[in-house]
Amino acid sequence: MLVFRGKSVFGGIAIGKISVYKKKEQQVKRVKIENADAEIVRYNEAREAAIEQLGALYEKALKEVGEANAAIFEIHQMMLEDDDYNESVENIIRTQMVNAEYAVASTADNFSSMFAAMDDDYMKARAADVKDISERLLTVLGEMEDAKNAAGDAAASASGAMAKDVMADGAGTEDATGEEGASGKERFIIVADDLAPSETVQLDKEKVLSFVTAHGSTNSHTAILARTMGIPALIGTGIALDESVDGKLGVVDGQEGVIYVDPDLEILEKMQEKRRKEMEEKELLQTLRGKENVTKDGQKIMLYANIGDIKDLAMVLKNDAGGIGLFRSEFIYLEKEDYPTEEEQFQIYKTVAQTMAGKRVIIRTLDIGADKQCDYFHMEKEENPALGRRAIRICLTQPEVFKTQLRALFRASAYGKVAIMYPMIANLWEVQKIKEIVNEVKRELAENGIAFGEPEQGIMIETPAAVMMSEELAREVDFFSIGTNDLTQYTLAIDRQNSSLDLFYDAHHPAVLRMIAMVVENAHKAGIWAGICGELGADGSLTKEFLAMGVDELSVSPGSILPLRKIVRESYNSRPDRP
Ligand code: PEP
Ligand code: MG
Repeated sequence: MLVFRGKSVFGGIAIGKISVYKKKEQQVKRVKIENADAEIVRYNEAREAAIEQLGALYEKALKEVGEANAAIFEIHQMMLEDDDYNESVENIIRTQMVNAEYAVASTADNFSSMFAAMDDDYMKARAADVKDISERLLTVLGEMEDAKNAAGDAAASASGAMAKDVMADGAGTEDATGEEGASGKERFIIVADDLAPSETVQLDKEKVLSFVTAHGSTNSHTAILARTMGIPALIGTGIALDESVDGKLGVVDGQEGVIYVDPDLEILEKMQEKRRKEMEEKELLQTLRGKENVTKDGQKIMLYANIGDIKDLAMVLKNDAGGIGLFRSEFIYLEKEDYPTEEEQFQIYKTVAQTMAGKRVIIRTLDIGADKQCDYFHMEKEENPALGRRAIRICLTQPEVFKTQLRALFRASAYGKVAIMYPMIANLWEVQKIKEIVNEVKRELAENGIAFGEPEQGIMIETPAAVMMSEELAREVDFFSIGTNDLTQYTLAIDRQNSSLDLFYDAHHPAVLRMIAMVVENAHKAGIWAGICGELGADGSLTKEFLAMGVDELSVSPGSILPLRKIVRESYNSRPDRP
């Protein structure tokens, strides 16, 4: 058994035969020419033909793999129109009096090294695109030569030789033993040094079980495609798996970022079991998407997602969340070395609001302090940081920081159903003070003619004080969201960061559950809704109990939404089990 590790770009387990993809070595010769103008005409003819080919490929890909994946051919067409690229080729032809093939190959080398050296991962990934368009040009130039029946040693065909088993039109091998797709075709783990975008997109997707590449970035099209296809993929295994692995049994563990070649029985059985579980979950995903979160006796509940970054939005959509119940905005602050500007924040909140297309997006205002420290806030060391300057306490004592965020939030609320949520509330006056600041922000925005919406405003209930004051607090806000992580910490007097106290950190403690019931009851009395956004919300063993309490919303990590939907739909219990 051989084991290779890489970076996972998509999770899951793939078990099947390995198919090694090898490109033919390029043999571009440097040939002296007499007439540079004629050579440039020849180059431009090849360029036009390549652009035409890409147009046809775009149309084909559009039908087969959708616009997002087809777009690469449009980008390649644009790259072939790019002045810098074309001037470089023409300059080399003119100044060195060499053939177009040599000029194209040199330009490809120069441009791809330039992209590869860039810091930005996206630009780095463009190195593969430059190579790709250059290879296409070389192929066309070679074909033009062949057609003219001229001496064909100017350039060898540079097209890659896709492993025969997975070519779009190729037939599967007779003795195939790997896993079969829905089409009945055998599916393979494609192992390559790297894959050019046009190579990945031309693969017969029904035959691809997984991608494993020695190079490439997480922004590479192989990675993007793997995510779109929802198949396990690894990049950057470092060493190219050589042809000796071709045809061997492979297991890709996309969760752990490992590929096993010729796995031993123990690994194989373990992975088969892991895959079986994963398939069950996938089936669950399939059947529950688009379904309501409703119990058998008609009680509904909202199932929303917790996120910390706009990158999480894909998972939110994939798991069919009804909205976002907690966007932990402090991660925007934690990732930076200085205060994020209003504009930076506005762009992020707007993107989330627009992506969620009218679904509720609850953005929590800055919740730093305790374990989440930002150097640039220059906070003094505290004896008891969990009981110290954190969250709303910072916002109310640094109103300019708070107002910057509020302005961004109110502006973003013009682009979707944004709701704002304030953390760590313990006093009624805090909510009243927030309202004063909010009114100032709205007035200033209006005076400056800046558009803003009317977001719902709610508070987190995560201190026992807020629970006990929930009747009064409910009259001041539009909703409650119970932060059970902190509520448990403050109720049981247990530091949530101290793992040696795990035995005592009991989120099922009757005190916590009774508090939740009390908060929900007081919310409903005032005509507002109440949800849970702490980890306890995802605890399936409590779902029935939450339903019985009348909890209106559970906000959980995206991957927990469909399992919870299953529990809700199987429940027939809107009456309390508990005495
Ligand atoms: C909570 O306290 O339950 C909560 C959701 O907030 P955080 O975990 O970010 O403190
Ligand atoms: Mg909290």
